[in-house]
This record gives sequence, structure tokens and C-alpha cells, in this order.
Amino acid sequence: MKSRIAVIGAGIAGIHCTSELIKLGYHVDLYEKSDRIGGRMKTELIEGFQIDHGFHVLQTGYNVAQKVIDYDKLNVKAFEPGALVIRSSSKKSRIWRLSDPFRRPLSSLKDAFGFFASPFDMLRVLLMRRRLTKMPVDEIFLNGDLDTEQWLRNQGFSQKFIDRFFYPLFSGIFLESELRTNERLFKFIFRTMSKGDMVLPKKGIQAIPDLLAQEIPKGNIELNSDVEIISPNTIKVNDEEKQYHGVIIAFDDRTNLSKKHVWTLYFSADKSPLSSKHIMLNSEIRNSDDLISYISVPSDIQSNYSPVGKSLICVTVLGDKCDNLGINSKEEVLSKVELELRKWYGDEVQSWSSIAIQHIINALPESDSEFFTQIDSNNEDGFFRCGDFMTHGSVEGALISARKTVENVGQKIPLLSQ
Ligand SMILES: Cc1cc2nc3c(=O)[nH]c(=O)nc-3n(C[C@H](O)[C@H](O)[C@H](O)COP(=O)(O)OP(=O)(O)OC[C@H]3O[C@@H](n4cnc5c(N)ncnc54)[C@H](O)[C@@H]3O)c2cc1C
Repeated sequence: MKSRIAVIGAGIAGIHCTSELIKLGYHVDLYEKSDRIGGRMKTELIEGFQIDHGFHVLQTGYNVAQKVIDYDKLNVKAFEPGALVIRSSSKKSRIWRLSDPFRRPLSSLKDAFGFFASPFDMLRVLLMRRRLTKMPVDEIFLNGDLDTEQWLRNQGFSQKFIDRFFYPLFSGIFLESELRTNERLFKFIFRTMSKGDMVLPKKGIQAIPDLLAQEIPKGNIELNSDVEIISPNTIKVNDEEKQYHGVIIAFDDRTNLSKKHVWTLYFSADKSPLSSKHIMLNSEIRNSDDLISYISVPSDIQSNYSPVGKSLICVTVLGDKCDNLGINSKEEVLSKVELELRKWYGDEVQSWSSIAIQHIINALPESDSEFFTQIDSNNEDGFFRCGDFMTHGSVEGALISARKTVENVGQKIPLLSQ
């Protein structure tokens, strides 16, 4: 008889783990407490707009995702490399275009020379890029206990450059406003962005878990099943106890869950406010009371994101920035964001309409310097665990963790039971 494994949680990690174990010959049941698969990778259809769960992209520079996900089947399309950077002012806002600070730092950053990039900063980006793109990912994750802010300072970057470029971009990626995230994750993301593009699937971010789940027979997935985990061999589903040779917990079951949270606001407009297919960073976010970290227009990349003749604008606001300003309701966030957008774009913003305001809690696992010094506790207590909380908060992190767990299961549970 085949050995039986239960996977609890149908996020991308649980889905990948399930399909790989089935390929190896195990019998696997995948349980999900909600009524859909995909976990945090979710897309809803609202008034004809595809609304992702937060601003969410896939990177073509991810090594494991490249092997696991068929990007062509998803019909992905890319953002322009680099970013627009805005400096807002009540008189006249100014916008810089950094065509590609990751792949062509010198030519890109010279556009912003004076405002935030010095020749030394430009040179340092170039050297950092050269070093990190040559470094294997495993090596990047091996060492380094500084936080991102300290690491960047140690590299010699000017505070102005950190505040106006690295800060708006990376605080928005890490979803925390201190740049306390460990240097290893910064280096990994910087390397990934230097090697590939940020892309969106035609049918929204949920198309990714949906595609991977096609490899799992329908009968092996049970939705609406909030599992109670009893022991490494026993779970309880809808009051019924079930026995397995192994249980994989594919959600963060720690008690000290990450406090990272983020607000994402979606607006509909008759035309896109951006002149190119970049995201736009707020250069003043660190040293002001502004809420907006950056905006993007997914419908500029994939027209599917909005009905014909409309644009979908996505605004990202860090949760801890709101906490620091004592802002905690949808109404307060919306009204402050609208004021800021009006400073950027003037009266045009009055014609935009708010489509969705999401407040996403436990958005990403904490990846501060302490996190990376922990020992991998997979299977220490008899359970297997997988998910981004075991590696780092990204699609790539979730997939890496799923593969490690499959390896672990293969070593500890024979394919056939006696
Ligand atoms: C706003 C936001 C933006 C992001 N942007 C990016 C990005 O641009 N690029 C990138 O690479 N990554 C991004 N990420 C991170 C990425 O989404 C996650 O790393 C990844 O989806 C994690 O997958 P997972 O399977 O580990 O966990 P999850 O997706 O959290 O899946 C866990 C699943 O377990 C289920 N579950 C929990 N408890 C039980 C139970 N008792 N019984 C049954 N089921 C249970 C949950 O319902 C859930 O479906 C972003 C995340 C957020 C929130």
C-alpha cells in the first residue's frame, strides 16, 4: 500500500509539495480551510477589474520558479525594468526615470544625478551588481547578519541615495518601514531584479497556483477543511480523525506570527497616470508623513486587468507607516492617499473611483537578522513544515521550501507502507 501523506494548506508551497510527492508515488491529500486554493496568491474579479491580493508580481530571475512554473502558459508580460521616481510638491511634482538601475546602473542613474545619485553611488551600484549577479544564490543565503539599512551604509551608499531610491523600493518589497530585513534577502532580491523582469500573468496572480494545481487530481484536494492537527500521524477534519504516515504543515503555525501588514488601494481611471510601464516610487516617503510607497498600473502591463477603456491603479501603503501616524481605518487611509495623489496628479484624481481597499495582515514572514540565524527545524517535532515562513517571503521562497520538504519526506517516509 502507498504511504499516505496529509498536506495542510493549499498555498503555493502546499500545492507544489503535493504534486511533487504524488509524482514520486505517495498518496497525498491536500486540505485547505478556505473555499479556494492559492493562499496569499489570490485574484478577485470586481466590476470587471482583476484585483490581486496586494501588489504582487512574479520575477523571471527566480531560479526555482523558472523550473516549476510555465511562464508561457501564464502569458506573462513584463514591467519595464527600473522605476519612475516622483518628488511631489504643492507647486510642481518632478519625475525621474531610472531606466534600469539594476542592469544598466550608470546610464540609468545619471538621469537622477544631483537629486539623489552621486557618482560614488552609481559606481557602487555597478560594483554591487557585478558581485551579486556572479554569486550563487546558496552562497548569498549562507552568511550575513546585518539589517539592510546597515549593510547599505557599510557599502558606502550615501544616506540620500538610500532614502530616495533603496528605501521606497525595498521597504515596499519587504513590507516594513525600517529596512530591518536581513541583508541576505536584500542581496537575493537585488540579484533577482538584476537578472530578470517583474511580470504579471494575463489572468492575475492567482493563475500561478491555479496552473500548478492542475497537476493534482481533483479528488486529492479538499476545500473548506479547517484541519486540527493532533499528532505527526493524526489530523481531525470536520470532526473526523484521519491517520497518515506523515503530516506536512504548509502554513505558518508559529504563535508569534509576523506583524507585517499592508494596505493596498485600487482605483479606476479613464487613463493611466503613468507615462511608461514602470512602477512609480515616492522618493519622499522616508522623511515625510506621506503614506504612498509606490503606485503601479497593472492594466498597462496586462490589459486583462481592467475593462476596455479603463485603467487600474494600485497604491501600496505600508501598515507600520500607518501605525506610526495613528491611522487605522479604511476611510482614513483612503482620504490621506487621495490627498497625496492630488498633490502628484492634480484635479485629474477627482475623476478616479475607488474600487477596493485591502488591509492584508500577516502579509510576509519576518526576515530580520535573527530569522536567518535560526536552525532549520523541519521535522524536529515529528511534523514536516513548508511555506515561505521556512525560507523567505516570496513565491521563490515558498517553492524552495516545498522542494526541501519533499526531499525530507523522501528520506524519512518509505514510499510503501508495511
Ligand atoms: C501583499 C503581498 C504581496 C506580495 N508580493 C509578492 C511578490 O511581488 N513577489 C513574490 O515572490 N512574493 C510576493 N508575496 C509573497 C508570496 O505571496 C508568498 O510568499 C507565498 O504566496 C506564500 O505561499 P505559502 O504557500 O507559503 O503560504 P500561504 O499562501 O499563506 O498558504 C497557506 C495556506 O494554508 C491555509 N491554512 C492555514 N491554516 C489551515 C488549516 N488549519 N487547515 C487548512 N488550511 C489552512 C491558508 O488558508 C492558506 O491557503 C506577497 C505577499 C503579499 C501578502
